[in-house]
Formats: sequence, structure tokens, C-alpha cells
Amino acid sequence: MDFLSRIKEIAGIENVFSNERMDKHTTFRVGGPARYMAAPSDETQINALIRLCGEYEVPYYIVGNGSNLLVSDKGYDGLIILIGRNMSDISVCGDVISAGAGALLSEIGKRALNERLTGFEFASGIPGTLGGACVMNAGAYGKEMKDVLISVRAITPDGDVRDFQAEELGLGYRQSIFIDGGYAIIKADVRLMPGSYSEISEKMAELARRRREKQPLEYPSAGSTFKRPEGMFAGQLIEQSGLKGMGVGGACVSEKHAGFIVNKGNATAKDIYDTIQLAVQTVAKKQGVKIEPEVRIIGEF
Ligand SMILES: Cc1cc2nc3c(=O)[nH]c(=O)nc-3n(C[C@H](O)[C@H](O)[C@H](O)COP(=O)(O)OP(=O)(O)OC[C@H]3O[C@@H](n4cnc5c(N)ncnc54)[C@H](O)[C@@H]3O)c2cc1C
Repeated sequence: MDFLSRIKEIAGIENVFSNERMDKHTTFRVGGPARYMAAPSDETQINALIRLCGEYEVPYYIVGNGSNLLVSDKGYDGLIILIGRNMSDISVCGDVISAGAGALLSEIGKRALNERLTGFEFASGIPGTLGGACVMNAGAYGKEMKDVLISVRAITPDGDVRDFQAEELGLGYRQSIFIDGGYAIIKADVRLMPGSYSEISEKMAELARRRREKQPLEYPSAGSTFKRPEGMFAGQLIEQSGLKGMGVGGACVSEKHAGFIVNKGNATAKDIYDTIQLAVQTVAKKQGVKIEPEVRIIGEF
């Protein structure tokens, strides 16, 4: 049987696609076709897909909500394993929320609010999944996933299913043991604290207001494109290098927040990639600082 038929057998015909355009699955709204895509529903299916990739020597890459990804215009010549809606159950026990890796942080935030649990407000405006947030140790407004994570269940590169305690995850600034790939996160538990509905909802609204005020949310992007160099802000360095509004093709450094590279509407992935390189090189030349993309870059450029 061919590879496509086998993945359909594992994940179900309705959850498998071929030549699926990645611009539909990334917040930059760019990216060519993924040769294969499957949206599994549980850990058994993920494990089977990963094993199959080994058997057929097909590379694979895991995608959550695609909010920190730049995929090449040439696409991805392998299997994209989409851990999203099909693995997004959320349950609550006391002050612990357990959710599938595909649950959106905004949905977990809403559930926390309804359960009157505080501590997740910082994450509720980040447009990613729980899995992606664990990989990136996503954070905002002085808090990060490290502050709330208790444990993560993941498939290891050896194909074992393992429960990791948060302390084992090497969580640091946009850093975890998962960052270099090979692991598939299945679910995670976060610990919050009892709080008041009105205070939680006010805090969420206030943080959403700050995002709208400071971030160019009207354009497709992947949030802050660069990591913060130690003791500095990438956006400030880029702005001081005179790059606001500058870019290549349909991509540019946002006028509103220089840390964001945005798609003005007709950018290609290559335009965004070249704008990233422009920022890296100009900041190195003018400020003597090396900035590094936070965004994960996939495929050939
Ligand atoms: C407007 C905007 C604002 C943003 N604001 C913030 C912010 O305030 N703070 C912040 O930290 N980030 C922010 N981001 C970036 C992004 O939302 C986060 O990095 C988020 O955690 C990525 O989650 P995702 O599900 O979209 O992951 P993806 O972009 O799909 O993937 C990111 C990485 O995680 C891996 N991955 C995803 N899911 C899994 C899984 N289940 N198992 C194994 N690996 C997986 C991927 O392979 C990839 O390496 C913002 C982005 C946008 C567009």
C-alpha cells in the first residue's frame, strides 16, 4: 500500500490531505503545499504516523496553530502532523486544567475564567495551541508557561510515551527540550489558583487592549519575529536601525511595532525570509548586535 493510503488508514480519510497549502495553516498566511498532512485524534495515531514515516523514510514536522512558523513557498516535502482541533479537549479538576496539545490558549483562558481560576490570563491572547506554547515556553506580560505548567505528556524521539514533570523540560526564554523537534506533545496540565470572575475577566480585557494598542494585529504575522537579545529589545534595535516600514516585496517591518515583520497582503514566504535577513544584517552592522529569529523556519529558502 502507498504512504497516502496508509496515513488515511491511521488517521481517517477525513483527516488526511495531500498537497495542502500551508498558507491556510500559518498566521503569516504564506507557505506552499505540504506533500501530506494528517490531523490525528490521539497518541496512538500520532505514534503510528511517526513510525510509518520511519518505515517509508518520509520526513515529518508537527504543527499546532502555525502562529510561530514560516513555511517556504516550495512547501514541505513530507508529512505535516497537525495537532489541533482533533486533540483539544479541556478538563478541570480543582485548580488544575488538563488539555490536549491542540487546545487553543484562548479556549483554555476562557475555561479558566468560567471556572474562576486565575494565572492563565497572560496566555489567553497568544494565538497558539497548548503544545506550541510548551515547545516555545510562550510568555507575555512578565509570565510564561514555566510558571503554570505541572507536566507534559509527549511521545519521545524513540517512540515512547512519557510524562515529563515541568522541571525536566529545560524551560527558559523561548526554550525547552522540545525545541529541536522529534517530540510530539499530546497533553499538558497547568496549575492555576482560585480567583474572582470579574478580576480575571478585567485582566484578560486589559491585556487584550494592550495587545491591540501595541501590536499590528490588522496584518498577518507570527508575533515578535525575533528573540530578545540579553538585556535588550529586538524591536528597539530594529527601529534604531531605521528599518520601520522597510522590507522586501510584500513583507515589511511593522510601522507600529518594529519587532513584528508583517505580511502586507501579498507577501511570499521568501519576502518574509528576506526581510528577516535584512533586519539581522542591518542590526548587526548598525548596532553590533546579533538578533535571532524566534519564528521557526521550515523548508528551503
Ligand atoms: C499576533 C501574534 C502574537 C503573539 N504573541 C505572542 C506572545 O505574546 N508570546 C509568545 O510567546 N508568543 C507569541 N506569539 C507566537 C506564537 O503564538 C507562540 O509561539 C505559540 O506558542 C505557538 O503555538 P502554535 O500552536 O501556533 O505553534 P506552531 O507555530 O504551530 O509551532 C511552533 C513550534 O512548536 C512545535 N509544535 C507545535 N505543536 C506541537 C506539539 N503538539 N508537539 C510538538 N511540537 C509542537 C512546532 O513543531 C514548532 O517548532 C504570537 C504570535 C502572533 C501571530
